[in-house]
Parts: sequence; C-alpha cells; structure tokens
Amino acid sequence: MRQPAQILHDVFGFGAFRGVQEDVIGRVMAGKHSLAVMPTGAGKSLCYQVPALAREGTALVISPLIALMHDQIRSAESFGIHAASLTSADGDEARQETLRRFKAGELDLLYVAPERASSGHFRELVGRAKLSLVAVDEAHCVSEWGHDFRPDYRLLRPLLDSLGDVPRLALTATADRQTRADILVQLGIPEDGLIVAGFDRPNIRYHVRPRDGVSSQLKALLAEQEGAGIVYVSSRDKAEKLAEQLAQGGRRRVLPYHAGLDPQVRARNQAAFVASEDMVMVATIAFGMGIDKPDVRFVAHAGIPKSIEAYYQETGRAGRDGDPAEAWMFWGAEDFLRARRRIETEVPDERRGGERHRLNSLAALVEAAECRRAILLHHFGEDPPARCGNCDNCLTPPTTVDATEAARKLLSA
Ligand code: ADP
Ligand code: MG
Repeated sequence: MRQPAQILHDVFGFGAFRGVQEDVIGRVMAGKHSLAVMPTGAGKSLCYQVPALAREGTALVISPLIALMHDQIRSAESFGIHAASLTSADGDEARQETLRRFKAGELDLLYVAPERASSGHFRELVGRAKLSLVAVDEAHCVSEWGHDFRPDYRLLRPLLDSLGDVPRLALTATADRQTRADILVQLGIPEDGLIVAGFDRPNIRYHVRPRDGVSSQLKALLAEQEGAGIVYVSSRDKAEKLAEQLAQGGRRRVLPYHAGLDPQVRARNQAAFVASEDMVMVATIAFGMGIDKPDVRFVAHAGIPKSIEAYYQETGRAGRDGDPAEAWMFWGAEDFLRARRRIETEVPDERRGGERHRLNSLAALVEAAECRRAILLHHFGEDPPARCGNCDNCLTPPTTVDATEAARKLLSA
C-alpha cells in the first residue's frame, strides 16, 4: 500500500499537506472517527481522497447535492481516481455499471446522497463490500443548529453503526461550537476526534456598509476594484436586473447566474467566469459550491447573507490564491425586517430558535464598531486578537464613540 505523502505527490502532484490535512488523514489511517472543521478552500476533499487510495476498499462519500457530487467526481477522475455516484440523476444504465464496479471492488470513491445511504437496501449492499472509510461531507447538515439542516442526515447513524470499525470522517466548513457538538453526538464521533483548522483568511479585507442606492455603490466598487468578482443578491430577478444595470457603461463583462437560467446558459456563464480575469458574476447563492477559481478578487453582498456561516463561506470564495481580496456587504434595515418576518411566519417551530439566533449574530456583525474579523473568528470558536488591521472598522474606526457621547449629553441634559 502507498503512503499518504507519496499519494499526495504521485496522484495529486502536490508538494505538501496544508494545515490540518495531515492530522486528519493520520487519524483516518489509524482507523479513528473524526470531525474536521476546515474553511472553504482548505482542501477537505483531499482528507478523504488520500486515505481512500491508501487504504483497502472503497470510500463511501455522503454528499447533499448531486451537482456537488458530479463536480467532485470530475475532479477526482482528473487525478486518475476511480469515482462514481449512485443518484437518481445518473440513469439506470449508469447506476447498474456503478453497482457492478462497486461490487467488483473497482471504485476508490462512491458518492451517495443521504436519502439513499440511509436505506436498508443500501446498508445491505455495503455490508457485503469492503469499505476504506465513510466520509460525511457538509456534515453541518446533520444538525438543527447548522445553517442547512437536512433531516436525511439524521438517518445515517444506523448505517454508520452497521459498519463497525470503518473510520468515519465528517467534514464541514461551517459549524459553530453548538453545531460541532451536535455533529459529534449525531454521528457517534468521540470528542477528541474534533479537528478545527484556523478560520482566518488574512488576505480578505472586510467592509460592511449601509445600503444607499446599491447599484451606484456597486458601480463605484466595480470601477475601482481590479479582477474578477461575485455580487450576491437574494433573488433570480435581482440577479438579472442588477447584472444588466452594472453592465451598462461599464468596462467589463457582467453576467447573471441563478438556478432559473437554462442549464446551458448557466454552464456557459460559469465557464466564462472561471476563464476570465475581470468578469463580474451577479448571482444567487446557487453560484459557488464547487467552483474552483482561486483568483476571485472580490465578493460583494447586495443585501444581507443568510447567516454568519453563509457570509464566511460566500466571502471565502475571494482570494483563495492568497493574494489580497475584498469582501463588501451593503445592507439595509429592511433586510433584517424581511428575514425576521420570514422566520416568524414561514419557519417551522423546531427551527425557529436556531434561525433567530443566527440572524441576531449576523445583526451583531453588521452593526459592530469593533473588528469584523475578530467577530467572525470568535463566532467560529477562535480567540483572535482584538484588532486585525485589515477590515473597515480597524482601518477607519467608526465614530460611534462620538455618537454615544452625544446621546449621553442629550440624555443628561
Ligand atoms: P474545500 O472542500 O475545503 O473547500 P477543496 O477540497 O475543494 O476545498 O480544495 C480546494 C483546492 O485546494 C482544490 O483545488 C485542491 O486541489 C487544492 N488543494 C487541496 N489540498 C492541497 C495541498 N495539500 N496542496 C495544494 N493544493 C491543495
Ligand atoms: Mg468541499
């Protein structure tokens, strides 16, 4: 059997593990269960791909989205890894062929959705196979505290328990303390199996501004900012309209991206963005997962994101090459009012508490006069320095002190 370091070099062509990858892979190699919390772009896939090749058997990968699985499979295959998925989108023939390869032990990686993985039928199938590990990707989906709860993740436990010694590796980019604790319990991972990577993205400069004619604010930003960027909006309609407004009179290409576009147009816009050095994509959150473009120079939010986790993940798409990058958020009080109304009227009882909590945390970030990075990192359980020197509040301290002073005078008058 090849060693992880050799696989890293021979299969992936990388010189060294990054950050906590080596620790995580070491635990899987030792047959231990783990939860790896690593920011977007930190290289979570490699943490299960390498042991999948180093250990005997097939690695089962639970993943919540078919599009995500297909991206991962394409990427794995580009490294010569034998990977396939069993999903409703794969067609009968492809599924039969995947089953055949799986049973014959020809697959390094088998991707399945949680609904399928939790079925008794699937448990029987894998009970007869040799598995190298089980990876649970986007593991925050198992927790009601997480920002993307998927009840199907809750049903995975019998499968995991039926596999005995097969090491479990849960992976997520977005889990606060409460969510992590819940993932450990739900997936039967011991507390000492938690590995948390540093969340700081020091090359990203954070700016948060009240909205004031957002299309002109963004036009000014686009005129100043070099490089490719993403502007996140909250609806398909806004993506179309804003893309059109920003394209007018500007010097660069601006295209929309959302789930309502024709799949061919969507694929074309995405490919144009990945290839471009200065294009701007005006997108809903449908754009992002699995897009491998290291040189995105800025991410702007025209309106609030769903949560701090979402903000961190979306802004984290900027500057993955390590060069300076910017994150901008233009928010309005009405964003919070609308979000609050939605939580009170549309969110089921059992999730309302979690959503209120997340919205309040986001409001605290937006309204803060302190270092934005310190608030972000603290949210993810780190104990950062009080000032980063690379966010709006550190660079241009707001004048709230004066305001409080003024208010005090008014009150005491
Ligand atoms: P995540 O799932 O954590 O967001 P990915 O697994 O998609 O991140 O990896 C992000 C990028 O980093 C990919 O292009 C991957 O090939 C690259 N990468 C991962 N590990 C390493 C490494 N040790 N050295 C160099 N590049 C790496
Ligand atoms: Mg990933």
